[in-house]
Amino acid sequence: MTEEPKWTPSHMRLSPSKINTYMKCPREFYYKYISKLPEKKTIHLFRGTLVHKVLENLFKNKFKSLPQWEKGGPAIWIQGEFEKGWEEKIAKHKWLWEVHTKEEMDAMYIETEQLLQNFVQSVNKKLTEMVKWKIYKSKYQAWNAVAPKYAERWVKSHEYAIVGVIDVVCNDFDGGTTLLDYKTSKRYGPYLPEEYYRQLIIYAFLYTLEMGEMPNFVGVNYLRFDDTFFVKISQTQLDEAKDLIKFVHDAIKEREEHEGKYEQKPQNLCKWCSFYKGNGGPCDVTLPKWEPKYKRKSKETYKDIDSKFKGQIELDAQKQFPEFD
Ligand code: SF4
Repeated sequence: MTEEPKWTPSHMRLSPSKINTYMKCPREFYYKYISKLPEKKTIHLFRGTLVHKVLENLFKNKFKSLPQWEKGGPAIWIQGEFEKGWEEKIAKHKWLWEVHTKEEMDAMYIETEQLLQNFVQSVNKKLTEMVKWKIYKSKYQAWNAVAPKYAERWVKSHEYAIVGVIDVVCNDFDGGTTLLDYKTSKRYGPYLPEEYYRQLIIYAFLYTLEMGEMPNFVGVNYLRFDDTFFVKISQTQLDEAKDLIKFVHDAIKEREEHEGKYEQKPQNLCKWCSFYKGNGGPCDVTLPKWEPKYKRKSKETYKDIDSKFKGQIELDAQKQFPEFD
């Protein structure tokens, strides 16, 4: 019996965002990661980096213990870090003021400041209320549940040629592990978007490979709303992540550097794509015709229903109550 040849990754080192770009549109992936065409940068990118940096330092460097948190004035510290970071990471990019209006920039400033302050308040609230409601006996125990074990944990696999950065690794009572990813975007709904789900299972897969221990849960924390959505991890999700990584590597190996082989995926998001010809890019895709998600139905009256289903209702009634025949 001949042995199957060993699977090997493509030449590219992947990341969850590269995989998500490929799944969203292979042609966008080509422009971004193979041709390396420059993209239109916006404030959202810089704001995300700033918030992640501040939160990383919060637990990793500044407030490593409860006494430090209680005596160190985290709200004042975070405000200082925000103002310094805004100057260094955002204000100095004068061109951002050409991409966005002053109103947009001012709104983003206030929103980011509030988002960080809300984060400190939410930690304080958890510390106080978890003791008040007797979930934990003391604030020290509550601190262990709230403060992460690691902030900004890099995970990688040579075998699968992929790397990722997990924002937070937490341990629960029984030593179980939860991985969290912070999201600063306004996007929010009562569901977990597909690309977030992919990102989370990839983190779970890489963490398991690297630590030899499967996390119980992975989740996204929407910082604006202080709300978290979790995915329970089992071997099924790890296998799914592995298949996904291999799928994208195989697609790259097959397509190599041929632009035409990377399919265009026409979608409503094309209008915001840096590579769309309407935005000065090379992609000549034909935009799909816009259709409303929900078609408005004319309101039915009882009279309408009655007339439409009259025959059926009568028939059903006959079946249910044959004695009335
Ligand atoms: S414009 Fe649309 S089809 Fe073209 S690269 Fe961007 S997302 Fe893909």
